[in-house]
Amino acid sequence: MDSFRPRLLLRARTLLLLMTLALPARADMVLHFIDVGQGDATLVEFPCAAMLVDAGAELNLEYDGTQALLDYLDAFFATRPHLNRTFALLAVTHPHIDHTRALPQVAQRYTIQNVITNGQRAGSGSREQLGLQNRAKNSDSSFVRDRLGLANEIHYQPVFVGDDLPLSGFSNGIVDPIACPDVDPLIRVLWGEIRTSNTQLTNGEKRNLNNHSLAIRVDYGSGSVLFTGDLEKEAIDELVKRYAGTGILDVDVYQVGHHGSANGTTPELVAAMSPKLAVISMGPYCRVGVDWTGNSWVARSYGHPRKSAVEILEAGVRLTDRSDPTIQIATAPQRFIPMTLTKKIYATGWDGTVVVKIQKNGRVDLVETKGQSACP
Ligand SMILES: [Zn+2]
Repeated sequence: MDSFRPRLLLRARTLLLLMTLALPARADMVLHFIDVGQGDATLVEFPCAAMLVDAGAELNLEYDGTQALLDYLDAFFATRPHLNRTFALLAVTHPHIDHTRALPQVAQRYTIQNVITNGQRAGSGSREQLGLQNRAKNSDSSFVRDRLGLANEIHYQPVFVGDDLPLSGFSNGIVDPIACPDVDPLIRVLWGEIRTSNTQLTNGEKRNLNNHSLAIRVDYGSGSVLFTGDLEKEAIDELVKRYAGTGILDVDVYQVGHHGSANGTTPELVAAMSPKLAVISMGPYCRVGVDWTGNSWVARSYGHPRKSAVEILEAGVRLTDRSDPTIQIATAPQRFIPMTLTKKIYATGWDGTVVVKIQKNGRVDLVETKGQSACP
């Protein structure tokens, strides 16, 4: 048997080397814009931790986005066993179901250490957001932790836009619990539930729950990404006005607001960001997606992404040469036409899951797109 040992050892070493080569680099921030159909779920991977922004999912007779999300996260944690299936931070931009549907399953299946939301209690996803908030609030009791099988207390922070929101954004140990040995990422919230009268928003615009979405900026060395949830034009105008001249909106990657709808992106915001690359989270244009109630809450029925928003991105995104440039955009609900892109604009509805790497020197690269759009 002894004579076999060196060969076995060599084989084991070769296997280890191959495994090491196959693993993605661990020195960067990697953004996984996960294809959950019409909805948002973005995994932010750091060398020492993971963060999830929203856990939305499309659900209808044709597609189950919750299962797609859980499958992706399970596969991810299998490649990063040292993360112990733990999210250091779970951020929920606002309580609409396309951002919250899978929260109960995510909270049940993985360890969550910190939660931030806009604190709101209404909306189509309020049951899921409230459930998460209550789970976190009650987790300070060892009795509750035992009952729920929680290994740890979940820290919870609602974030508001008050008159005292600093121009550097809001952060604390719950919003930003992550510090990796090589790079300490910086996580800040720039927008949340509006609790100031110091805006131009009408009462109707304030009643629009989208306008209370968390806007979250994550910095990794010189690289950065901005999430604006489903903020609409009037709130985006306030965001741009509030932070004018601070440079805090200037980022490398933009998760396109409101699934690429006509009211989720403005030329002024894109000018302030000067993003290198943009990613839209939405469903494929061809899926009709009728659900059990006979309704259809999908990209096709909303008309996502809308031509006007994509044109703003084409004008403002800096990196050129999308590998597969001809995509489908909407001119109206259910009306789609082909468009040829010249910039690095990606979308879960066109590309499947989109994986983007941001290096600490600010360099941005598309790593891969996974899965295919369900459409021809
Ligand atoms: Zn949404």
